[in-house]
Amino acid sequence: MQNLYFFCKNIKIYISTALILVTVVIDDQANADPPHRNADSVFVNPYIDEGARKPNLLDKVWWKFKYYMIQRPLVNDNFEYAVIPPEYVNPPERFNSGAVTWVGHATFLVQIDGLNILTDPVWSERVGLLNSRLGLQRQTAPGIPWEKLPPIDVVLISHNHYDHLDYPTVMQLEQEHQPVFFVPLGLSDLLTGWGVTHTIEKDWWEGDSINGVKFIAVPAQHQSRRAIHDHNTTLWSGWVIEASNHTLYFAGDTGYFPGFKKISKRLGPIDLAMMPIGAYDPEWYNALYHVNPAEALQAFIDLDARYFAAMHWGTFDQSEERLSDPPRELLRAARRMGVDQDRLWIFAFGEKRAIPSRLPEETITIQYDDKQ
Ligand SMILES: [Zn+2]
Repeated sequence: MQNLYFFCKNIKIYISTALILVTVVIDDQANADPPHRNADSVFVNPYIDEGARKPNLLDKVWWKFKYYMIQRPLVNDNFEYAVIPPEYVNPPERFNSGAVTWVGHATFLVQIDGLNILTDPVWSERVGLLNSRLGLQRQTAPGIPWEKLPPIDVVLISHNHYDHLDYPTVMQLEQEHQPVFFVPLGLSDLLTGWGVTHTIEKDWWEGDSINGVKFIAVPAQHQSRRAIHDHNTTLWSGWVIEASNHTLYFAGDTGYFPGFKKISKRLGPIDLAMMPIGAYDPEWYNALYHVNPAEALQAFIDLDARYFAAMHWGTFDQSEERLSDPPRELLRAARRMGVDQDRLWIFAFGEKRAIPSRLPEETITIQYDDKQ
């Protein structure tokens, strides 16, 4: 009888506990990603049916031939790129409160909490198979001359495409700086085979800390390939950098997908999102794997980030839009979508920007009542 009394007395507590547990389980299921590896251990994009929408190989080869042999040489792009003269580019040896300098393409120097971090570092004159005649030629010089690099502690690699994982740059970093290379699943073997001594390999949502700064691999919608036989045998990812006062997001290469909202929900608030804005034309070839400027902006909204650092434009001529089109399209999209242009950072090559503190926005405004 006494047991029944206690049961009835506590029934409210039992019900609320059960409800909380059910909510947690449902929430966890909503957060969980569909699998991103198939039964053959090949990585897949969980949010799209690639088999149904992927352009076939013949279309791709024909487009590349037509584009590089006929169409591209006729395109006139007399754009004057904003470049910080190399003599004025002097990144500090160390920087505590958080700054980013754009080198070009997907390469940023991130200086935060005393750590120097490079994203997808590429200093080569050409990128691509054999790194020589067959590769894409660099159109704008790296914004930071190599000899002006401060000591590099950490390198973040998003995936193995040649314009993001550049063998000569990786080896020069290894020889001169011995940084820790964070790579997505499956890529550690390649780097170790090259002679890199310190790699940390992560699956999506996994992270590790260096000197108190955490680096977390996050989902992206892309693919990987370095040779004919290795399509999608290594993973692709973005990276979140959690420092003491700021959280940064580096998207790598990605199409528009539901992952941006998940990243914000699980790891936000994000202060600065480094977003690709180039390599989107033609749409049939690029739409699944590269965001266009409007999609990058929508991703920025999904991420609920404070500032947008534009990248992946003006450096390698790899798609049909003119090299200088992406920032113009980004600003047009911002006007259409009502995003304050002050939040969009379109860097000059070699430009450094400090990440503003969160404090002003969080300051409480005291309202005085004049009737008192
Ligand atoms: Zn790529």
